[in-house]
Order: sequence, then structure tokens, then C-alpha cells
Amino acid sequence: MPDPEKRFAEEWRDAAYNCFSSGHKFCREVCPVMQVTRNESWSPTAFHANVVAMEQGSLEVSDVAADYVNCTGCGACELRCPNSLFTGDFYRFRTRTVDLVKGVRSLAVRQGVHQPGWQRWNELTAERTHEPVADGVSQERVRDWAQGLDLTVGGETILFVDCEAAFYRPSVPRSVARVLELAGYKFGLMNEQWCCGGPAAEMGYEDQARRFAEHNLADWRAAGVRRVLVLDPHDYITFTEDYPKYFGESFDIEVVLVVELLAALIREGRLVPHLPVERTVTYHDPCRLNKRKGIWQEPREVLRAIPGLTFHDVDRVSQWSYCSGAGGGLAVEKPELTAKISEMRMGKAAELGVDTLVTACPWAERPLTAAGEARSIGVVDLHELLAESLGVAP
Ligand code: SF4
Ligand code: SF4
Repeated sequence: MPDPEKRFAEEWRDAAYNCFSSGHKFCREVCPVMQVTRNESWSPTAFHANVVAMEQGSLEVSDVAADYVNCTGCGACELRCPNSLFTGDFYRFRTRTVDLVKGVRSLAVRQGVHQPGWQRWNELTAERTHEPVADGVSQERVRDWAQGLDLTVGGETILFVDCEAAFYRPSVPRSVARVLELAGYKFGLMNEQWCCGGPAAEMGYEDQARRFAEHNLADWRAAGVRRVLVLDPHDYITFTEDYPKYFGESFDIEVVLVVELLAALIREGRLVPHLPVERTVTYHDPCRLNKRKGIWQEPREVLRAIPGLTFHDVDRVSQWSYCSGAGGGLAVEKPELTAKISEMRMGKAAELGVDTLVTACPWAERPLTAAGEARSIGVVDLHELLAESLGVAP
């Protein structure tokens, strides 16, 4: 077995045997990929069992790398896993399937095993310094979304706008900027913003992810930034989990999720939504907020502050909440599987009799919108909905 594989198997050995010996497979019922495919090779159990086989020398990463595409990184399995639920508190053990999947993907790339969609996507991202989410994406156009808003560059607090929103959904960051301006909250923009690197890390292109992170941190330092506002849940994970891992204790930037900030501004009376928005809605919990970070109350606080809305909440939060299928690079490599998961999620919204599904994640919005069309359910971003009620829609 090549050395990197040996080291990897040693690193993950205990976690892999822990899962392998349990055998209850509770995670399968909450895994969105399992829910729509029932393919046992794509279950969290299999992801661990493969490592056991690797450790015993009976398979190599190239044998199984393609199976590890089938994960959205939603984190439901980790919460559902009894090894986290029952023994976790006592032994400080937590099943870390998301990290394991990322680890195998990264090992595969280091061993020269690539998935065609991910390889192409990361090459284009490296060329442009941005995700290739739309045609004409380039460094020169990274601040196009802010045209006419008269925002400054730099300062103690800056707003980081993810590639998906900057190029594909510019009205989302425009809404955020106008709402923050209305509240008198001061912020600037980055000088030269590159992709956060999170998607590259999720697809296994770790060197590229680190390069992007180093660039962005250097840009923040040069502009005297102390605080970064983030509107995309994926960026939030990258900045709060990957960046501290890359930079250790020297990473002293405060990372603030915009939805949490907006909920606080509403609580303080600095934002008063007053224009009625006559819609019947439910809320789609982005996996990276709800399941990965435990943030599900603040978005609901924002929704409940908007007059005119009829809000039908889902019956499930934490490990039971529904995934859009858009995370973890799945939409890049297997868009048809993402579409199936989005259709399943939209079916749950339809059961509530709503006309609108509210999201707080630009990545989830695209496949959910496609799934909503078949059921005449619109998909609206939470920040935009708030801006509408505040009378500052872009
Ligand atoms: S619930 Fe946990 S221990 Fe059980 S199969 Fe899934 S990951 Fe393994
Ligand atoms: S993180 Fe989500 S998609 Fe990945 S294995 Fe776990 S439940 Fe399935």
C-alpha cells in the first residue's frame, strides 16, 4: 500500500472500526443520498468500512474513490449516529463522516485519482480565482453586484460575497448591503476577493483550497480587517472550520453570519420590517447552518418578524431536516442526483401547502428552484424577503 494511504488508514483506523463494529446503521435513514438511491456503497457505513478494508490492505483508494462522490456533506449522519449521541458526551467521541469523506477525496486527488467534473471545475476555478458558476466570471467582475451602491473597500468589517451569489444571484448581496445600510451598520468590501476555497477542499483539492485561503487572509490583513460578514452557509463553514485549521491560533478574524446579525438588529429595534409580504411559506434549513452549526432559530426569528407572512414550519430540525442535495460538490459531479434530492425536499414543502420555500443558502436555491417549478412553489431568499418588508428591495 502506498505510504499516504497507510498514513490515512492509521489516522482514521479507530473511527472506522468504531463504526464497523457498531453495525446499527442508523445514519442511513437520515442520509439524503441513501434516501433517494438506497445504494449501500454510498452510505456512511460503507465510507467507514472501506477504511477498515484499506487498513487491512484489501483495497486501495482508487477502488472506492468514485463512491465518495455521493455525499453532500450535510452532517445528518453524524448527528444521528449513536456513537455521537450516546457515547459522545461520555468519551468525547463524535463520528466525523464529513471529515472522513473529505479526507478520502483529498487522498484520492493526492494519489492522482480524479473525478472528471471536479477536476475540470477546480481547474477553471484556479484559472479564474472564482468558481465557474456562470459565463464571464472573472476577478474584474467580482464586485459588479455592488454597482451603484456606493460601498467602500476595506475597513474593520467587510462583507464576503460567495461566488454563487456574486455572479449568479446578485440581488441577494445587494439586499444584504441595503439592509445593513438601513440599520447604520458599517462595512466595506474586499480589495481582491478570491473563492473562499471551501468547495475545492470538499472535492479533495486541498492545496488549491489553502492557496485561496492564504490569499484571502492576506487581503484582509492588508486592509486592516478584524471582522468578516458572511451570507453563505458554505463560506461560514469554511471560515469557521477550515481557516482555523489552516492558520491555527494566528487566525484572529471574527466571522459573523449575516442571518444572526440581522436577527440581532431586529431584536434591538434597529431594523423594523413593516411592509406586509403576503405569502404562505416554509423555511429550508441549510444543512451547514442547522445540522453542522446548530443555527436554526435566528432565521425563524427573522421570518416571524416579517408581517403578512403565514409561516408553516417543518416538523424536523437537527438530524431530521431535509437536504437540498446541493452541497459537497455533488451538484458539480452528479447534478441528476442533486435534482432528485431537491425534488424530495420540495415534496415535503408541498405537503405543508405553501406557495413559497424560503432559503438562506445561495447554493441550495438553484436546484430547489428547478424542483419548485414542477409544483408551482416559488423559492425566495430570506435576505431578499426581509429587504422587501423593510422597503429597500434592490
Ligand atoms: S450510525 Fe454511526 S456507527 Fe452506525 S453505521 Fe452510521 S456512521 Fe457507523
Ligand atoms: S454527510 Fe449527509 S450526505 Fe454525507 S453521508 Fe452523511 S448524511 Fe449522507
